[in-house]
Amino acid sequence: MWIGVVILSSVAVAVIWRADVNGWGSIAWLSGTIAMFFIRMPFAQQTAENKVALSRKDILEKVLLAGMSVSMMLLPIIFLVSGYLSFANYALPGWVTAVGGMGLLPALYLVWRSHADLGQNWSVTLELREGHTLTISGIYRHIRHPMYAGIWLLVLMQPLLLHNWIAGPTAILCFGLLYALRAPKEEAMMLEEFGAEYQEYISRTKRLIPGLL
Ligand code: SAH
Repeated sequence: MWIGVVILSSVAVAVIWRADVNGWGSIAWLSGTIAMFFIRMPFAQQTAENKVALSRKDILEKVLLAGMSVSMMLLPIIFLVSGYLSFANYALPGWVTAVGGMGLLPALYLVWRSHADLGQNWSVTLELREGHTLTISGIYRHIRHPMYAGIWLLVLMQPLLLHNWIAGPTAILCFGLLYALRAPKEEAMMLEEFGAEYQEYISRTKRLIPGLL
């Protein structure tokens, strides 16, 4: 955890230092990233000792997870703290950047709320822990993938805050791919484990937007 705090603090100093070059969208992105870290950290610590009963973490899943780290952390940091990616910059009106900043709020709420509702059932990848229970209350009463809904919002806001073709929209591609490949596998895994109960849950909920999508 402390290594994360040290890295994040160094990045924060560099991003604030260069805020006049990168625009205030970079400060909004930094705030969102710091918030994500502190939302996730206690849940990651609580679930670290959980014994895994079933894992579907194959090589593809590992590549997709690495793609998420690269597109949501590494590329933004390279863009923000150095000038290396500046050849791919674009300009956006201030109000679009403001929409990006505002969009982070519901995104962070969704991520926090889904962590709180999943509790010990959370895992960063495709796996079930020993004693896994099905969560269908709280925000899970309305949609099956609130955490992914939150991450969708985060990656959609990223190019509005980071005005660069490499550091901005790449996250949409990486998460789009991860979501498209993972959501069906995750639901198949949940169906295997929870059978009729999960089938009934699928029949009365949507994946991302209540009643719609
Ligand atoms: N797809 C969910 C959860 C993401 S975390 C969301 O977007 O909110 C991924 C892990 O959560 C999966 O590997 C699975 O073990 C667990 N999981 C997903 N849906 C669940 C549910 N309804 N109840 C309990 N665990 C669930």
